[in-house]
Formats: sequence, structure tokens, C-alpha cells
Amino acid sequence: MMNLCDLRTVREVMERHGLRFRHEFGQNFLITPAVPQRIAEMCCEDTDSCILEIGPGIGTLTCYLAERFSKVTAVEIDRGLIPALGETLAEYDNVNVINEDIMKVDIEKLVSEEFGNRRVSVCANLPYYITTPIIMKLLESDVCFDSITVMIQSEVADRLTAEAGDSEYGAITAVLGYYGEAEKLFTVKPGNFEPPPKVNSTVVRISLYDTPKYLPKDKTLFFSVIKAAFGQRRKTLLNALSAGLGGFDKATISRAIEESGYRADIRGEKLSTADFCNLADTLYELKNNIQEK
Ligand code: SAM
Repeated sequence: MMNLCDLRTVREVMERHGLRFRHEFGQNFLITPAVPQRIAEMCCEDTDSCILEIGPGIGTLTCYLAERFSKVTAVEIDRGLIPALGETLAEYDNVNVINEDIMKVDIEKLVSEEFGNRRVSVCANLPYYITTPIIMKLLESDVCFDSITVMIQSEVADRLTAEAGDSEYGAITAVLGYYGEAEKLFTVKPGNFEPPPKVNSTVVRISLYDTPKYLPKDKTLFFSVIKAAFGQRRKTLLNALSAGLGGFDKATISRAIEESGYRADIRGEKLSTADFCNLADTLYELKNNIQEK
């Protein structure tokens, strides 16, 4: 296995392929072997699993994943890195590199083509300029990933793992709670990357539910309620929903909040995923009863 954490090796590989670190692609490569090794070990226990990696860079984490798992498919946006990956991953016949923007990929199609019906987890040191959209895209895809393990800015990790009522709790926390549970694995300081990023990073593992834990009567309404509740953060839930949730008047929203068992002046950030499901179901019932009359 090439030592891709050795700074001299990194520079040589990049020079040989005429590469520079591209800030616009969030390129901060790992240079401490213990970090990719731990990420690969902790992302998934089942070594028969397949791994979808996003942003392999020059293949630092990819090597550890290829050593441990049966198959790895890595999606890299930067065309210039592809020949370098051909060199650094040459010894692995269980790795496939795809030159694509993950935001433009049909994830369901890719996973089915690459892995068929096998178990799949995601593992990535994500580009920080696009962390949340990538996580949302993975969650919203129709793929039943076992888990999604990502290294992200510590601030975003705090949001993903917050509890209802915490200052970091937001729409993404409540939405994530619908799909699974997130836990922080460990923190990584800027000095473990080249070039070093400006912020601390945290590895987070999202374990996805096999079968849905929450079954809102109207999924679209459930997500719209969460979005509207956090659209106007300093307002009460009643005012935020009145302003941001189409199709319901203030009186109906007020009644739904009361019938769901919450105080009239409660704020959205106090509601857990289960609470949002409960509230969305009450709204759904009120609307349908009203329409039936
Ligand atoms: N995995 C390597 C490591 O840990 O050293 C590199 C991680 S670096 C933080 C992020 C990588 O994601 C870069 O290689 C970058 O080119 C790639 N990337 C950025 N945006 C992407 C996108 N939209 N789709 C796929 N890859 C992307």
C-alpha cells in the first residue's frame, strides 16, 4: 500500500500529474495515517459490505477502504485526479473510480449498477463547501444505505447530532432524525490535512433505520412543517408556520399545536422529529376533517 499520508509522496504524485490543491473543490487531503485508518475501521463492521466513497482525492482513504471492504466505488469531480488515482490505486482490483459530480449523479442507479443487491455504506472525507447538500441528497435517495460516515466541519457535526432544544438544533437535525441516528466518532485537528482547513473536523456516523421509525400520514406535509418551523427561527412555532406553511390558516395551525399537546407559545426548535410527526399528523387530520364537512 502506498503511503499517501507522507507529504513528500503526496507532492510527488501531484507534481507527476501536474496537479495543485483546488480550493474550489474543497481539497484538503489527509496526511496522518491513523485518521483514514480509523475512519475505515469505524464506518462499518461488516467487511463484506460495499462502500461508496465521495471525493477520493489522491486515494488516501480509498486505500484503507479497499484493504478492508469487498468493493469500493469512489466518485471524484476533479478530472485531473483520475490519472493519479489510476497510479495510487493500481494494486486494488476491488476499486472503481467514477469521474462525476456527486450532486449530478443518480445515486440509486449508480448503487444498483455498482453493487447490485449487496449491502452498501457511504464513507467520505467530504468537501466542506457542499457538506449539507451531499448529506441531504444521500438521505433523500431511495437507497437503503446501512450507514453514512462522513468527516465534516465540527460545527455541522454539532448540528447533526444536536437534541431538540439545543442551540445547534435545526431543520437538518429534525429531518435527519426521520432517516436515522447520528453520532460523533472523533474530532480531527486542521494539522492532519494538507492544506490545513480553517476549522476543526469531526467524523460522524449516521446509522440509517432499516424500517422507518416514524410514519407521518403525509410525508410531504411533515417535511414542509419542519422547513417552515425553522424558516423564521426567532418566531414562535405558530407564527413561523402561519408565515411559511401554505394551505393552513392561523386558526387551524393554532388548534393543531394545542391538540398535539404543545404550549401556544412554543418554538420550533423545541420539537423532536417525533413531535413534528405528531404535529403534521394533527394538521393532516384537521385539514381532511374540515374538507369532509
Ligand atoms: N478523500 C481524500 C482525503 O481524505 O484525503 C480527499 C478529501 S477532500 C476533503 C474532498 C474531495 O472531494 C476532493 O478530492 C474533491 O475534489 C472532491 N469533490 C469535491 N466536490 C465534489 C463533488 N461535487 N463530487 C465528487 N467529488 C467532489
